[in-house]
Amino acid sequence: MKYVQTTCPYCGTGCSFNLVVDKGIVTGVAPYQRSPVNEGKLCPKGTYAHEFINNPDRLKKPLIKKDGKFVEASWDEALKLVAEKFKSYKPDECACLASARVSNEDNYAMMKFARGVLKTKHIDHCARLCHASTVAGLANIFGSGAMTNSIGDIAESKCVFIIGSNTFECHPLIGRRVMQAKAKGAKVIYADPRYTPTGKQADLYLQFRSGTDVALLNGMMQEIIRNGWENKEFIQNRCNGFDELKKEVMKDDYSLENVSKITGVPADKIKTAAEWFAKSGASAILYSMGITQHTTGVDNVKSCGNLQMLTGNLGRPGTGVNALRGQNNVQGACDMGCLPVVYTAYQKVIDEAAQKKFADGWKFPDGIAKGENGYEVTTLMNVLTEKPGEIKCLYIMGENPMISDPDLTHVEHALKTLDFLVVQDIFLNETAEFADVVLPAACYAEKDGTQTSTERRVQMWRKAQNPPGEAKGDWEIIASIAAKMGYGAQFPWKTSEDVFNEMASLTPSYAGMTYERLNRPEALHWPCPTTDHPGTPILHTEKFGMPDGKGLMTGIPFKWPQEVPDSEYPFVLTTGRSIWQWHTGTMTRRSASLEREEPTGWVEINTEDAKKLGIADKEKVKAKTRRGEITIPARVTPDIMPGVVFIPFHYAECAANVLTINALDPIAKIPESKACAVKIEKIAEA
Ligand code: SF4
Repeated sequence: MKYVQTTCPYCGTGCSFNLVVDKGIVTGVAPYQRSPVNEGKLCPKGTYAHEFINNPDRLKKPLIKKDGKFVEASWDEALKLVAEKFKSYKPDECACLASARVSNEDNYAMMKFARGVLKTKHIDHCARLCHASTVAGLANIFGSGAMTNSIGDIAESKCVFIIGSNTFECHPLIGRRVMQAKAKGAKVIYADPRYTPTGKQADLYLQFRSGTDVALLNGMMQEIIRNGWENKEFIQNRCNGFDELKKEVMKDDYSLENVSKITGVPADKIKTAAEWFAKSGASAILYSMGITQHTTGVDNVKSCGNLQMLTGNLGRPGTGVNALRGQNNVQGACDMGCLPVVYTAYQKVIDEAAQKKFADGWKFPDGIAKGENGYEVTTLMNVLTEKPGEIKCLYIMGENPMISDPDLTHVEHALKTLDFLVVQDIFLNETAEFADVVLPAACYAEKDGTQTSTERRVQMWRKAQNPPGEAKGDWEIIASIAAKMGYGAQFPWKTSEDVFNEMASLTPSYAGMTYERLNRPEALHWPCPTTDHPGTPILHTEKFGMPDGKGLMTGIPFKWPQEVPDSEYPFVLTTGRSIWQWHTGTMTRRSASLEREEPTGWVEINTEDAKKLGIADKEKVKAKTRRGEITIPARVTPDIMPGVVFIPFHYAECAANVLTINALDPIAKIPESKACAVKIEKIAEA
């Protein structure tokens, strides 16, 4: 028996634990005390992170669809078919989806494959669905689209403002830091339509209507400026745009009275929140998808940045704009350039110097993809249905759009227009059912590699057992396809470390990292530009990453969500997550200890609303939107705001995304998963 230390494959917190290995098979999880992230503690998902690994459903051989049915194939047969089909398309007839679940090495390989082998500009991944607004919003105002501070220093905060994040359920080991801050006297303010376990620990709860974030934040800023609580020195020395911000937020639209009407939050609570936040001396904002998944996602993110610049809460411990990333490696997949507009470390594809750097570094004899922006995954789904034939071939690694993307009927239509779909995964997920070829991949416990957590900490995965059957690591599969297509010389890697070293040589923020340096409990935070650099737990300590070093404040007008309730669809639907499940459930729903706790979805509805509709707790009801309908048990509770209902999105049998709207933020192209109009109907007795 042995212990193999690794990093949790679930949320973006990046906790470490030991995998217990008995006779070559992973049999359990044991604490690893030396991690500065979680100090040996784990949430339920981490505790049971071994349970899905040897599930009998794991894919063990390549599958090829013949006459509508999957049949097992040899690797040689599957790779030959994939290579021949890929070669038959023009570059921009192909698109690739990388993955926030797999390693940096796997994502780098996919990015290089897309742009170097297929020569397509269309590569994206599901960061589009969770934090695209963060990447675009924070890069626009700070010059870097990532969480500004580290998880540990949240405990140093004097006031923690959590908006649009159920931190205690979705990032429990970050929630622990909030409680440490509170134990030392910090005030905790919580803004959300649901009175979640996070809200129940707060000192001040602002129950606000989904999608009214900008109004709430502008109202707080007006109150701060009106009372002279802004940090004048910080604004003067480190920011541009204060006059423009002030002009917007001082409008009568954002008076306490008007903001209270828009948001539903009593005026005195908004005033208290503004005062506590501005006067604490070290205030942190924590947010997640409640802020980002809106047609105003970028506006919401920039408003969080405005509040922090206005109060001077950046560049110090206990402060910052702390975007809590949902999946284990969503930060890394973005860092690796699996976005349609950038190479690694956000080097723009339209920048000629970056284009030359990658063309020279990769040495493809026939060049690489043009230096043009490609389609985001949400745009891609629209193109598939609106311009059938423009994109013919899709290669998906470790993603499941048939559960995760908005308006699943639309997604199904989109996937059905494809001529050729390859899905590479560890289980036959809902999307793989539409594939022509399925390639079996290794999971986190079966390969070495790195992942980058929400706090930009790059940590190791370590191989603990062999993959089942003939499954292989993702970058190995990608390199094998490349070799079959005549590009073996460009994919010469023997180990994950080889892939990492090539990536780091082209990636300034990772340039000082090596496996040797990462192979210690604290690992390294990017940016880490040289091999003697200690890494950067806190960004923007002296200046921002903007050309003149100053942060950019902007006036943000409030806009309502695209689809608001009406007489036909009278409720607002908001979606989210459960502590027991993760993302599309492929792993957690095959983990008996987790699945037992919440084995199906539910619609959370306010007690008074349920009473009016004659709906009892646990009664099955219909939830209907303009996109579709599902049957789902009701969870009747006073903890959700009247007029709002909540559905977790993990469950295929009552999939929340059948209902959600495919309305996008105009810049980030993120869907509005947090607000659309829905009706709840009692099912008539037969
Ligand atoms: Fe894993 Fe996140 Fe739980 Fe930590 S908080 S154990 S990273 S799921």
